[in-house]
Amino acid sequence: MAIERTLAILKPDCVRKRLTGEVLRRIEAAGFKVCALHMQKLSRSRAEGFYEVHRERPFFSGLVDFMTSGPCVPVVLEKENAVNAFRTLIGATDPAEADEGTIRKDYADNKGENIVHGSDSAENAKNEIAYFFGEGRIPADHS
Ligand code: GDP
Repeated sequence: MAIERTLAILKPDCVRKRLTGEVLRRIEAAGFKVCALHMQKLSRSRAEGFYEVHRERPFFSGLVDFMTSGPCVPVVLEKENAVNAFRTLIGATDPAEADEGTIRKDYADNKGENIVHGSDSAENAKNEIAYFFGEGRIPADHS
């Protein structure tokens, strides 16, 4: 299996609950390498752009309210099969449906405020990483 990158976002509820360190610890303990991270408060247009595919969904404006409610932490992660491995680590979108031992099961309050984002395909991962980490924003050497 090839080494791959994925984009995580520690969402505003994660930062607010002071779980930034704990969630990063669990991610690293699961074998992911942290390649880049950048805490930031998203503007509405940046949050809308990130979730553009959901624009017509009923939860869209609530999602943008939530994602702009405080700082979040986009993180570039690397591991074999990173996209699928990270989705497994975080669990289902709705914590009530997430497997035991997953990050969302352990920390998320509900389907909207669910602690962490993870790219859902290799193609989306590439685009999402580029959305937050442009040219020169990922340190070249992680060895
Ligand atoms: P993900 O890939 O597991 O994050 O899920 P989706 O891509 O389907 O949705 C993106 C994000 O929108 C989720 O992580 C939630 O924060 C939010 N979301 C998705 N579905 C719902 C919903 O039915 N209600 C609410 N309130 N938020 C939702």
